[in-house]
Amino acid sequence: MKIILHKGGHEIGGTCLQLTTANTSILVDAGLPISAKSKPVDVAQLAVDAALISHYHQDHHGLMTLLPQQTPIYIGKLGKSFIDATKTFLGEEIQEREYRDFQAWKSFQIGDFTITPYLMDHSAAEAFAFLIEAEGKRLFYSGDLRSHGRKGKLFDNLIQRPVRDIDLLFLEGTMLHRSNDQFPDETAVENTIFQTIQSQKNISFLLSSSQNIDRIVSAYRACKRAGKLFVIDIYTAWVLEQLRQITQNTPAMDWPEIRVFANYSQDERLKANPDYFGDFRNRLYRRRVKREELHAKPESFLYFGKMSRFRFIDEFKNDAAPVNVIYSQWLGYLDGNHANQFGSSNIAAYREDPAVNFVYAHTSGHAPLADLQQLAAALKPRMLVPIHTEHSERFQDHFDNVTPIRDGEPFVLN
Ligand SMILES: [Zn+2]
Repeated sequence: MKIILHKGGHEIGGTCLQLTTANTSILVDAGLPISAKSKPVDVAQLAVDAALISHYHQDHHGLMTLLPQQTPIYIGKLGKSFIDATKTFLGEEIQEREYRDFQAWKSFQIGDFTITPYLMDHSAAEAFAFLIEAEGKRLFYSGDLRSHGRKGKLFDNLIQRPVRDIDLLFLEGTMLHRSNDQFPDETAVENTIFQTIQSQKNISFLLSSSQNIDRIVSAYRACKRAGKLFVIDIYTAWVLEQLRQITQNTPAMDWPEIRVFANYSQDERLKANPDYFGDFRNRLYRRRVKREELHAKPESFLYFGKMSRFRFIDEFKNDAAPVNVIYSQWLGYLDGNHANQFGSSNIAAYREDPAVNFVYAHTSGHAPLADLQQLAAALKPRMLVPIHTEHSERFQDHFDNVTPIRDGEPFVLN
């Protein structure tokens, strides 16, 4: 089997891994780089028979629509619907092409390859690792994973019943030199949100990704404990609707403690796509909270939103009590090097703003080093290849059998 790690061996994001046998070639993830300095792989030029996507984060699927139209894309059903939701709200077209879904732990075939998806815990609600078998070799591709989220049991299960006889493990190392000590898990995040909103005298905003479902659950639970109403926008409400395909246990807009704030631009999307949204707009309007209601009793609400909503936050500033801004995503977005994160400089300035109580509450979507070591020890791979890391050269200090593969250089697995 021939392996080309086009990108992703020495950076976080942008992962594109091509595997080729005598008869079949597949691309595992088609990621858009996170760093503006990293050039995306020209996936249109790769002769692959299919692409296999681990999860719905841009740095793993962002290039998939650039593949030739006839190339089928294998992706989880929930992931595909989250990607469609984002595109619809951005006013982008959903590309007509062949998408094929798969089920966790059910093997399927792409030419010479047998693929078995393993559902994992990650900040994406649906994220897979893959066991990939072909020509007598067994590869395990970690995707992005962790054990400290609300689905941590999936990680524990893999440790307790590890996949055997792995020739090569592609292991993500996002957290190799980052600490998760301040917020070791989602419960710690939930508690900080709860403590912040419990006796608030003004409104709280929580800034995070609408597709980080664990975080929505933490915020919802904190609201329930504190007797506050949880306010989401139309996009978040639609994301939560998508989860109904797989579970009835995650918060949804018709739950008693939840209200929807309908802003103009998102509502325009609903009106523009009536077939896609069905009766969602009618149901949503029964759950609506108006601007005047938020201003009348701001201390009753926690508003979950994106960084780009900072102007809305400014409306609630007053002399009597600070607005709580709970920053609940990676702090790196505030360092000035992520211009694509619209509003990040305004949010960063809230740290010095006397009218704002800036609170940080976030746990990583990725496993810390100790968990990665536990996984590697359980899987006992013959070779371990670092991916999704800024510290590939340090893997040898922490793991056995490390074999770094340089981006773009063919590697033959014998
Ligand atoms: Zn991810």
